[in-house]
Order: sequence, then C-alpha cells, then structure tokens
Amino acid sequence: MKPESSRLPHTDNAVFGPLRGGAQEPTYGGVLSFMRRRYSRDLVGVDVVVWGIPFDAATSNRPGARFGPQAIRRASAIFDGDPQYPFGMDPFEHLSVIDYGDCGFDYARPLEIRPAIKSQAAAILDAGAHLVSLGGDHFVTFPLLEAHAARHGPLALVQFDAHQDTWNDDEQRLGHGSFITRAVRRGLIDPARSIQIGIRTHAPADYGIETIDAGSIDALGIAGIVARIRERAGQGAAYLSFDIDCLDPAFAPGTGTPVSGGLSAREAFAVLGGIADLDWRGMDVVEVAPAYDHADITAIAAATVVQRHIGALAMQRQAR
Ligand code: MN
Ligand code: MN
Repeated sequence: MKPESSRLPHTDNAVFGPLRGGAQEPTYGGVLSFMRRRYSRDLVGVDVVVWGIPFDAATSNRPGARFGPQAIRRASAIFDGDPQYPFGMDPFEHLSVIDYGDCGFDYARPLEIRPAIKSQAAAILDAGAHLVSLGGDHFVTFPLLEAHAARHGPLALVQFDAHQDTWNDDEQRLGHGSFITRAVRRGLIDPARSIQIGIRTHAPADYGIETIDAGSIDALGIAGIVARIRERAGQGAAYLSFDIDCLDPAFAPGTGTPVSGGLSAREAFAVLGGIADLDWRGMDVVEVAPAYDHADITAIAAATVVQRHIGALAMQRQAR
C-alpha cells in the first residue's frame, strides 16, 4: 500500500500521472483509460500498447461489440495502484504501458477497415511495442494476425472461444466467424502449434488445429489443459486471442453469440496463469458487447484477462 499522500490527485500532471507506477484516482471516477494508463500516441520508451478496435459490423447475431473497448476500459478502473493479484506487485513498475486510444476507420467503407486495422497495428509493432487489442468482434483478429505475422512469422495461436471460427469467407465478406480460415490460408498461424480452448459448437473445418472442447474440461482439469497448450504451442512466438464467449454466459452474458456450458472465469484465469511464461508476441480480447451485460460482469472479466496478460509480461520482464 502506498502512503496516502502519494495516492491523492497529481498536481504536476493532473490527469495522467507518470508513465510508470500505479494509479492515483478513485475506482468510481476519473479518466477511463485502460488501468489508468496515460492516453498517448508517443511510442518512445513504451513496452506495451493497449488499443481499442470498436468494430462490430462482421457480427452474425447480436451486435454491440463496438462498445467493448469503452466498457473494458471503464471496468479496468477496479485495478488500482496496489500490488496486482496474483502477481503481488505493480506490473507498471516493470513495464511502461500506454492507452493508445482506438483504431481509426470509416465505418461506412467496410472493405477499408481490414487494411486500416492492419496498418495501424503494424505501425505500433514497428515501434517495438507489445500490442494488446480490445475488440470489437472477432473479425479484428485477422488483420491483427496479419500485422503480427509480418513481424514474427507464423504464430502459435492460443484461442479461447466457444466457436472454432473456421467458417468460409471471401474477400468481399466481413464475417466474425472466419478469421481462422483466412489466417490459415495466408500462413499467419501455424496450425500444428495452435490450439482452441472451450469449443462447444461444430464448424466446417479444424485445419489441423487442436481443440479442447467444453465437454472435456472437467476430465482434463486445469493442469491437463495447461499441459496440452504448452505441449502444442511450444517455445516459439505465440499470440493469444481471447473471445469472451469462451466463458459461460453466467460469467460473460454481454457478448454477441453466447453459448451455454463454458468455462468459468476462475478456470480461464487459472489456465492463463499456467501459460503466463509462453513467448507472447501479442493478444486481444474480443466480442464484449456491453448492451447485454449485467453489473459489468463481462467487462470486468475482459479487463481481468488483459490485467493477467500484462502481469504475465511484467513477470517475464522481472525474471530477465
Ligand atoms: Mn470467436
Ligand atoms: Mn466465439
């Protein structure tokens, strides 16, 4: 716990505070950047960029994920400057993290949205920052993978989802259930090193990607799921895509395509904890649609997914 005097509003930089270190504002007010990070587009000296992609025009069922970034930012205010559970330390003492604001695009030119996401993501990656993206529906992961694979080569994809997202698509369509088809077609991910967790729907293909369906969660247990992911993804460059609908609707009602019988939040966070030391090159959390949420349940879960990812990166930095 910091001395009370250091937790009162700043006088030197009244809104955003220093680039490193914990938050200074009450959880119920203030500027709602992600975890109170500085709103900035200056990438000099920045380790991690949190970025919103408020796009949901590829949604097949309930729209509204365009409001996901706002909701996740607001919910993230529950994480104040105290040591972050379960890491026991303030990740921002080890990593400089900014909130870059949102991706810019013209909603009325849908075919320009993919290159807009890709090029803006590439600019962030070119500065050497680790990119954390807040969706948006799951279409956005396709241009994000394009940008990441251009820098790192084919990635091991670790995907939490109720859906395999392997439906067919073509260049004139924008579907949120086809990013895997597109990514495999272009070699953005390595199917032999990729894995999906929480699947409880049928899809046209698996492309050789391993799936852990919801029905095998209890038999495998947390340790078994962690072992399968680690064995699959190995030591190479990995990307985490967390579709919030992997969680049971009890833990994530605010999403576009809810499917009953999913992971609990506690189970998902335990699995994330077991794979915290993988070679993460980027991540996203998608499909948060706050209009269907209750008491911020879904937004808090999504904010916690990102908090755990940033904490994992901070632990890796601390260990180096
Ligand atoms: Mn998905
Ligand atoms: Mn899904």
